[in-house]
Amino acid sequence: MPLSKALEPQRRILGKVGRKRKQSRFPPRNRQERKKIAKNQIAKLLELALSELPSNGRQAERHASIAWALATRFNVRLREKRLLFCHYCKQFIVPPTTARYRLSRRRVGINITCFRCGRTYRKLFSKAK
Ligand SMILES: [Zn+2]
Repeated sequence: MPLSKALEPQRRILGKVGRKRKQSRFPPRNRQERKKIAKNQIAKLLELALSELPSNGRQAERHASIAWALATRFNVRLREKRLLFCHYCKQFIVPPTTARYRLSRRRVGINITCFRCGRTYRKLFSKAK
């Protein structure tokens, strides 16, 4: 799918992301609705990014960065998709090419190494209730 076509609904409803705009923020009345649309677009973009990663890495990265911009702008929780972004450099990382996941020896969790910035961080699993 071409980039312009994939982003069309989002451009129409949510406007541009990633760059600061001179206009004021959106009025609060449609906030929940916008959030919902942003959430759908994020899911779509990340799915797209993952599917085209082997063939077109740069476009995948671009899609992922747009998804990140939407999530931060519209205050959408990424949940498990958060694993796809580095804690430090916020870039799109997917094991095994751009990241490494290792089970932690000391506690219940994983150690994630980002190959883009080279840093390691932990993701701890909360205890089952
Ligand atoms: Zn990183």
